[in-house]
Amino acid sequence: MNPQADAEPGLVASGIERVVAWAQQYSLFIYPFVTACCGMEYMSTASGHYDMDRFGAGLPRFSPRQADVLLVVGTISHKIAPVLRRVYDQMCEPKWVIAFGACTCTGGFYDSYATVQGIDTILPVDVYIPGCPPRPEAVLEGLMKLQTKIGRQRPVILR
Ligand code: SF4
Repeated sequence: MNPQADAEPGLVASGIERVVAWAQQYSLFIYPFVTACCGMEYMSTASGHYDMDRFGAGLPRFSPRQADVLLVVGTISHKIAPVLRRVYDQMCEPKWVIAFGACTCTGGFYDSYATVQGIDTILPVDVYIPGCPPRPEAVLEGLMKLQTKIGRQRPVILR
């Protein structure tokens, strides 16, 4: 296997960068920002039956400073949006964001003045998982897509 062949065009990965990216791929610390009914499906996904530990992502962190993946789960109102943005800002680089469910992706069926019409209007999103709510299998697929994306990115190495 040639890892360079899998890299996105324009990205050059040295040996040490490949090792760091590999480590980041398989040691994800998720901060679940849960506001609504999709939370039930998150709990299901995080249960032993679906075993997120297989992906190195089994241990949720409840401090943004200890997390590198922000998993936004549920409807985001304009009132809570500044809190979400603040949580994101408190996370250290490198960090990634997953939009979990239709509400976070687009506002879902809450086409109203009170609801954020997609969290990508307030912070950058790396992976969108559609569904109302998404099934655990879809969530795991989204997680694997994020891992693939991380593996192709040039890692942030703090010196
Ligand atoms: S996508 Fe559906 S299940 Fe998820 S928070 Fe919105 S309304 Fe609830």
